[in-house]
Amino acid sequence: MRQYLKVDLDKCTGCRTCEVVCAEVKTKECNPKKSLIRVTFVPPYFFLPINCQFCDRPPCVSSCPESALEVDEKHRIRVDPKKCIGCSWCLNVCPFGAIVLDEETNVVRICDLCNGDPECVKACPTNALELVTSELASIKNRFSAAQKLLAGLISSSGILKEVKG
Ligand code: SF4
Repeated sequence: MRQYLKVDLDKCTGCRTCEVVCAEVKTKECNPKKSLIRVTFVPPYFFLPINCQFCDRPPCVSSCPESALEVDEKHRIRVDPKKCIGCSWCLNVCPFGAIVLDEETNVVRICDLCNGDPECVKACPTNALELVTSELASIKNRFSAAQKLLAGLISSSGILKEVKG
């Protein structure tokens, strides 16, 4: 089943700990530019960490002229470093800007969710990141919507009185 990172925009403070940890784990360098999750500021208030979204029909895979990318059984994109020629076509077609070209090796790198146990999720000090399936994300979103609806009903005493009769 496809998994991806769910971001809670209310919790992300833009501290970029996720970027630093990812770069450290994946490249042994404390350089956020090498991270496979990148935090983008969305004015006026929000920070949105973005990584590979594991698209159902990934344009990066179909655009690679060398067939260096493939989708594995867990729906993650695998890069064959022997085939990648660093042409950046995949990088250009990724709708999320989630592919990084390693300028030292000239090979692209893509988030693999740390094989199902993402370090960024564990490191986030505000628990803004969560590894979910699409089904789990839908359940959580429905629950959150129901909570907001209920809060609205409670604050609107007129409606509550009507409901109670
Ligand atoms: S570590 Fe958490 S709070 Fe900090 S930028 Fe990343 S997702 Fe946001």
